[in-house]
Amino acid sequence: MTLSVHQYLCLTDNYGALAHDSVTGATACVDVPEAAPTLAALAERGWTLSDVLITHHHADHIQGVPELKAKFPSVKIWGPARDAARIPFLDHKVAEGDIARVGSLGAKVIETPGHTLGHIAYHFEEDDIAFCGDTLFSLGCGRVFEAPYAVMWSSLVKLAALPGETQVYCGHEYTEANGRFALTVEPGNPILKARIEEVARLRAKGRPTLPTTVAAELAANPFLRAEEPAVQAAVGMGGADPAAVFAELRARKDRF
Ligand SMILES: [Zn+2]
Repeated sequence: MTLSVHQYLCLTDNYGALAHDSVTGATACVDVPEAAPTLAALAERGWTLSDVLITHHHADHIQGVPELKAKFPSVKIWGPARDAARIPFLDHKVAEGDIARVGSLGAKVIETPGHTLGHIAYHFEEDDIAFCGDTLFSLGCGRVFEAPYAVMWSSLVKLAALPGETQVYCGHEYTEANGRFALTVEPGNPILKARIEEVARLRAKGRPTLPTTVAAELAANPFLRAEEPAVQAAVGMGGADPAAVFAELRARKDRF
């Protein structure tokens, strides 16, 4: 285990994260909602920034990059080739299966279109850690802005196929609100109910509810459970195509 992660809050409910390689000292930050908390997090750990890993083009994920680049000119910025036109400062444009190198660490790029067309996740396979941006949240998923619902479903299926023990870091602290919707879908799911109680305890102390794990989400997140009979019954779509069930769930959440 050479990868250490330090997660910190930015703006209102965004998370930034530092991914540090203890072998070489290289440190990447995953998305930059704001430069100041990122610089504070680096100073707190005594780590030096070497790379930035961008998940998608939204301002609340990239707007701190120019300030970091001005301060650390040698820092390399990685991000989705498909969205290079909307993320103008990329040094490394990556696509499905590419490896983003952070010192001795390698993060495999997983294309996860839906929230945005070019959205990508970074999977540090050896350390079982994935940074999923705004595609997968705990008990929820990102809004689908730039692709059909079925495309987002395919992206979530890819993330759900990662090993169950994979630690999942997300772009936002949305778990409490997601839990309220999830409970309308599966009010009888004991694992969901236990997770919601845990989340309430953590939030009461001002603590993050993330990272989560793939296994925990498969057991409680309705958006990964569109194949489950209980979830299908909850939306009156027993036996339907899971992609269609997912679309109905996402549409209901948009109105919730
Ligand atoms: Zn976003």
